[in-house]
Amino acid sequence: MCDLDWPVLAWLGIGQRRWIPVAEPSSERHHRVLIVGGGAGGITVAAQLLRARPGLDVAILEPATVHDYQSGWIPAGAGLLPLASTHRPEASVIPPGACWIQSSAARFEPEAQRVITAAGEVLRYDALVVAIGLQLDWGRIKGLPEALGQHGIVSTYSRDHITATWAAIRGFQGGTALFTHPATPIKCGGAPQKVRYLADDVFQASSGVGVNTQVIFCTAMAKLYPVEAYNTTVEQIVARRHIDARTLHNLIDVRATEQVAVFEVSEPGGEPRHEEIRFDLLHVVPPMAAPDVVASSPLAITGPGGWVEVHKLTCQHKRYADVFALGDVSSLPTAKSLAAVRGQAPVLVANLLARLDGRALLAHYDGYTACPLITSFHSVVMAEFDYTLQPVSSFLVDPTKERWSMFLVETRIFPWVYWHRVLKGRLHESRFLKPFAPLVRALGLARREP
Ligand SMILES: Cc1cc2nc3c(=O)[nH]c(=O)nc-3n(C[C@H](O)[C@H](O)[C@H](O)COP(=O)(O)OP(=O)(O)OC[C@H]3O[C@@H](n4cnc5c(N)ncnc54)[C@H](O)[C@@H]3O)c2cc1C
Repeated sequence: MCDLDWPVLAWLGIGQRRWIPVAEPSSERHHRVLIVGGGAGGITVAAQLLRARPGLDVAILEPATVHDYQSGWIPAGAGLLPLASTHRPEASVIPPGACWIQSSAARFEPEAQRVITAAGEVLRYDALVVAIGLQLDWGRIKGLPEALGQHGIVSTYSRDHITATWAAIRGFQGGTALFTHPATPIKCGGAPQKVRYLADDVFQASSGVGVNTQVIFCTAMAKLYPVEAYNTTVEQIVARRHIDARTLHNLIDVRATEQVAVFEVSEPGGEPRHEEIRFDLLHVVPPMAAPDVVASSPLAITGPGGWVEVHKLTCQHKRYADVFALGDVSSLPTAKSLAAVRGQAPVLVANLLARLDGRALLAHYDGYTACPLITSFHSVVMAEFDYTLQPVSSFLVDPTKERWSMFLVETRIFPWVYWHRVLKGRLHESRFLKPFAPLVRALGLARREP
């Protein structure tokens, strides 16, 4: 169990509702369940585990003192939410009964059932949950790291750049506004498009700017959205807004002082070629991959990304039966999102408890995810889907349509749900309308039960 000796407790969270014990470094310790990463996935799993089995010995290894609601970064930047509402002290989200080890994983040794922390501590476990998110590889675009924040080059994918990004969008005087989407899987595949629509609204509302602005969207993907039904919706919005959308365009180089972006364009059947686009504003979404500590470990899948290699239905590791993973760091073949975490967590928790009890792993994840598209300052396409790449709905409405109701859900209800239901382990999948499940199924919009 977490070492609760009073002399070794550090009191944290002044002004918060309760005190959290922080473990003092020791050379070696054991926990029944070790969760690496106290972000959306790690905290949700810890809370659900402790609700299902109070008293279970659960430790969370997490270095950060601040917990982010990343889904709020774009609405907050656009002024739809206070920025301060998108983060809270990590101590305030650690579930009661869990032990927080404030350090980071430096090495995974799954054969020995242990994790070595950056402080050199050895953490042994009966079951391990890996939930350390992904890393943003700004450096994979030549010239970008040193240029970010200057010469009109911005990104909402970093908390530190949100304010400057929206100041640049609001202060834009016209010209070419260029938005990018990289060649790797990213968290919230809809985010690059949300920024683009909201920015376009800001340009149109600003006297003389809209008519003097060309908005270009360059994505390395073959389509604007991976699900056909939503792709159709997006194509209609892009056409309505006169946005110049270019597929198979992968940003590889930024010549900041000249304000030129260089893309590698790989059209089927043709040789890859380079295309240069001059910009006045460049919003970049960087390439992403599993953190190096995972990608270089035995847990990683062979091949690009370096994700933790888990079964797509059970969230259990393919080679290490006592290891589970969820969220952005996992190899689960669906779009990486908080919504996906909501779908994965109850499955992982059920299977992890079954594993501890020596029972069969029966819970299955259906690939549920959502990349809500904020398409204007008053509309959202909720864009939910699963492994079948077909639209599904948690809200009894056609999810392919732009809706004001979904805008209210995304900007008003979801932030509350995140802090008060998801992180408390109280929301299992998208059960908002569970009582209406038979009706939803009859309408053919239902989430399929795994
Ligand atoms: C701009 C933006 C907009 C988004 N919009 C949406 C949206 O509208 N809807 C939606 O569903 N999703 C959205 N997302 C995606 C969503 O936030 C993520 O998919 C979700 O947070 C993934 O949860 P996670 O637990 O896998 O990773 P995270 O929440 O990122 O947590 C990972 C945790 O691991 C910790 N960590 C890292 N390295 C180590 C280490 N070595 N040892 C221990 N701990 C470590 C980190 O400090 C962090 O706390 C958005 C994301 C961004 C950036």
